[in-house]
Amino acid sequence: MPCLMIRLYGIVQGVGFRPFVSRAADSIGVLGTVANKGSYVEVFAKADSETLERFVHILKNETPERAIVISADVRETEDIDFKSFEIIESEKETGDIFVSPDIATCDKCRAELFDSGDRRYLHPFINCTQCGPRLTILDAMPYDRERTTMSDFPMCEKCEYEYTHAHTRRYDAQPVCCNECGPQVYIVGQDVKGADAITLARKSIMNGKVIAVKGIGGFHLCCDAKNEAAVSRLRKLKNRPAKPFAVMMKNMDTVNEQCRVQDGQQEFLTGYQKPILLLEKKGGGLAQGISPDNPTVGVMLPYAPLQMLLFDYPDGVEMTDCLVMTSGNVSGAPICRSDEDAQKEIGSYCDMILSHDRRILIRADDSVMDWFDGKPYMIRRSRGFAPLPVMVSKKAKLQSLAIGGELKNTFCIGKNELLYLSSYVGDMADIRTVYALKESVQRMQELLEVSPEKCVCDMHPKYNTVTVAEETGLPLEKLQHHYAHILSCMAENDCDETVIGLSFDGTGYGTDGTIWGGEMLICDTHGFERAGSIMPFKQVGGDASSKEGWRIAVQLIRDGFGSDAQGICEKLGLCDEKTFKLQSVMADKGINTVLSTSAGRLFDAVSAILGIRTHSTFEGESSMCLEFAAEAFEKDDPGYKTAYSGAFYDGEKLATTELVRDLTQRFLQGEDKGKLAYDFHFVLAQMMTEFSLWLSEKTGIKTAALSGGVFQNKLLLRLTKQRLESRGFRVLIHELVPANDGGIALGQAYFALCNCDDNK
Ligand code: ZN
Ligand code: ZN
Ligand code: FE
Repeated sequence: MPCLMIRLYGIVQGVGFRPFVSRAADSIGVLGTVANKGSYVEVFAKADSETLERFVHILKNETPERAIVISADVRETEDIDFKSFEIIESEKETGDIFVSPDIATCDKCRAELFDSGDRRYLHPFINCTQCGPRLTILDAMPYDRERTTMSDFPMCEKCEYEYTHAHTRRYDAQPVCCNECGPQVYIVGQDVKGADAITLARKSIMNGKVIAVKGIGGFHLCCDAKNEAAVSRLRKLKNRPAKPFAVMMKNMDTVNEQCRVQDGQQEFLTGYQKPILLLEKKGGGLAQGISPDNPTVGVMLPYAPLQMLLFDYPDGVEMTDCLVMTSGNVSGAPICRSDEDAQKEIGSYCDMILSHDRRILIRADDSVMDWFDGKPYMIRRSRGFAPLPVMVSKKAKLQSLAIGGELKNTFCIGKNELLYLSSYVGDMADIRTVYALKESVQRMQELLEVSPEKCVCDMHPKYNTVTVAEETGLPLEKLQHHYAHILSCMAENDCDETVIGLSFDGTGYGTDGTIWGGEMLICDTHGFERAGSIMPFKQVGGDASSKEGWRIAVQLIRDGFGSDAQGICEKLGLCDEKTFKLQSVMADKGINTVLSTSAGRLFDAVSAILGIRTHSTFEGESSMCLEFAAEAFEKDDPGYKTAYSGAFYDGEKLATTELVRDLTQRFLQGEDKGKLAYDFHFVLAQMMTEFSLWLSEKTGIKTAALSGGVFQNKLLLRLTKQRLESRGFRVLIHELVPANDGGIALGQAYFALCNCDDNK
């Protein structure tokens, strides 16, 4: 009988692939073996030719739900004597490695969890071949129980049976366990375990307490999302006055009750990745303090059994159906993953800690996505998505490390055409985050079996990420921040053309030593030219100015109104006479002042001028409120057309100072701030489009790529995309990679790939 060797590449580990192969073989009478090789699954198959053909077809086309076969290599091999079909122990080989992200609890496990006749009834760690933790408990590849933190829990006889028998749902499920042999939940520092711990946690939540709960990729801080006092107490404890909290809702019924769900969104809410999705609030019973002055709320469904049990447990406690679930960390620091971290760092933010003894090795924050044009629009790509690689057509032999940006850091490991974007690390201003980055880089390199030949980082002289990159000792490439944004958009869209890059962003270090952020770039995968930008202004006050939009507003008004500026600033309530003078002196003498084209700061300034927000308590607050005001206006007056008579650009600069002057004047004349906020977005989109057209006429480029944190603003994104498309441009935007600095590392890694020796 003929014998085949079949190698299957892709997401074939930790997704029930080997049991699937074994079942398929048994069902049609194929003899042989299947083994995990770390980078691929290797199958030896023996049967008559017809059966083998059927078998290969099944392997390629009827794979388990979570598996993705990217390629299959099928070869005839010499005759081997097989007596049955068996799964053999994993051996290590090298090659392209796909590590599965963590997978939310599946429906079958959920049903068993609440089935009093099942032996895993109420087991807080129930999982199967189709679901459960993966990346976060993984120590090394290939993915096998002994190389996960489940190796701390020897299987009981019954679990062992399921684990080793192909007809069960848990055949080869590495984290398999039960009430008898699995991990245990407990309250940290108290002698309360198991069922009692869950009941105590539930009672505490209903008594208005804040508790920390250990999840899949780290701790959450949790309280009743319908209890105003509890939410406001959590805000005080966490010193977080306004930044929205995510809410975990019991089920889809609750979501539909609280929020408007658009077509396609339910699929993402209930899917196996279970991200936080930003939904429009309906004004149900959620506490005001969840997302103040914000028409949306971040919603997710329970994705771990313990979370399901918090909502539903047979202990007679009347439970809320909405829980705040916000990352358990000190603002800017990485999410806590051990009891020690939690006690030390967030112990004072909460009344108790509900933990368990399954260790987390790799942190994974919840992923956050917005929605644009009927599709997801990623804000934070982490649990459920990382470390799935982005694959590009560009080919080369190169292993690289892209260290990412300073805020919302993720890093990216490049292995040939596969670019593995990491889970979310955090903001590098906190030294703990820097340690977390170093540790995480090391671990991912080991998991993916990569030893980078090259490193890419930002060119900012003061970034901690740059220091981390320098410490690697690898040949280093420093890449301009806004170019990296555009490259990340090009990589996500697998684009290797010359594009007009609209990089609208907070701040980044420019090649001329000034601060950039509202940039019109001509880019290909080898380099860029700065073709234009918004009108530069003096950014006074250093770091403070990123939270104090009024400072930029004062400067823009000085630029627009000259000697009338002081009176206008006072009238607008931006500052008093003394402060105005101080600001002016600092600007004129260049004290703590840099020249800037930051689009983020421009938005903050307009927000301040229109009396919407003069300060931000979290990054982007002022700009976000400006967007909400504009969107609310558009909703009320959908037929409104902006008439702006000013110039769109002046030489190589967008005429943004002129626009601010116009808006200020109209605001002083009593025009509605929502209307002016809308006009600001609309005219800015016009400016970008007209400037792109001018560039296009000069260069023949007809593709535009939109990236940078300011394009998280969906109104600006929509208006800009529509305008550009109506003028004949092909427009590339992000989808599953964030437009913000969380995507930077992908752009850096793409650059390394496109500029290595093979591609010169
Ligand atoms: Zn399951
Ligand atoms: Zn067991
Ligand atoms: Fe940026």
